[in-house]
Amino acid sequence: MKITYLGTAAAEAVPALFCNCAYCRQAKLNGGKDVRTRSQALIDDRLLVDYPADTFSHMKDYAVDLPNIHSILVTHTHQDHLYLEDLGLRFGGFCQEISGELTLYGNDRLCEKFDALYGQEPATSRLRGLLSACEIAPYVAADIEGYRVTPLLASHDRSERCYIYLIEKDGKSLLYGNDTGWFPEATWSHLTGVHLDLVSLDCTHMKYREGTNHLGIDDVIAVRKELERLGCANAATTFVVTHFSHNGHMLHADLEVVLVPQGIRVAYDGYSVSF
Ligand SMILES: [Zn+2]
Ligand SMILES: [Zn+2]
Ligand SMILES: [Zn+2]
Repeated sequence: MKITYLGTAAAEAVPALFCNCAYCRQAKLNGGKDVRTRSQALIDDRLLVDYPADTFSHMKDYAVDLPNIHSILVTHTHQDHLYLEDLGLRFGGFCQEISGELTLYGNDRLCEKFDALYGQEPATSRLRGLLSACEIAPYVAADIEGYRVTPLLASHDRSERCYIYLIEKDGKSLLYGNDTGWFPEATWSHLTGVHLDLVSLDCTHMKYREGTNHLGIDDVIAVRKELERLGCANAATTFVVTHFSHNGHMLHADLEVVLVPQGIRVAYDGYSVSF
């Protein structure tokens, strides 16, 4: 399995859209790994996770074959993870030679928002067979693009069921999380004994501990320890952190100084790892 990090920032991006802080000013000067677009990942060049407003730049910068992507897993409906309006450009007339249907998979809120935007005629008939939303239930495995995909509840916005995803294929397993605090009990118990080859976690708050809606470095280390205790992770498990906020007050090199000695990899836009 391969995961490519197309975007690695939290909602504001880095440098943040309207921010004058020292970290954003420095990120702008440094460029490269210190410039981060909103979080999105691509599994094996075919299964997308999340659809932020930066998807166009991801397609352009990393040669993503977006016209031929047919499935997107949506973690939750915050605007840095879901830009629904953009997907209407799959209407005939906005693009040609459209390849089959693109389906968004996620929680009930995703389907509500999708229906509010596209559930009325004439949008419904124009998008029939081209774009759809499908609710998948927490802790129930679904077959998507040949992967066994299980949504697990995150600790994040309590007004919706935010998901992290367990993705399995050919004996390999990936846990992809962003926007989660310390996992709910049901998620820990679902994961117990499931070996994970790669664990991808948010590190939104970087040097600051948080753990209720997001993670910081100390929270990530605590999650890894718990996964080891539950038999999910061992020395063979790769850990990667992503979804960074400028409010965490660390640049890419600062993160590497702390995390690399811990055996945790720091993602940047365009970073790819096979496992
Ligand atoms: Zn987010
Ligand atoms: Zn800033
Ligand atoms: Zn969020």
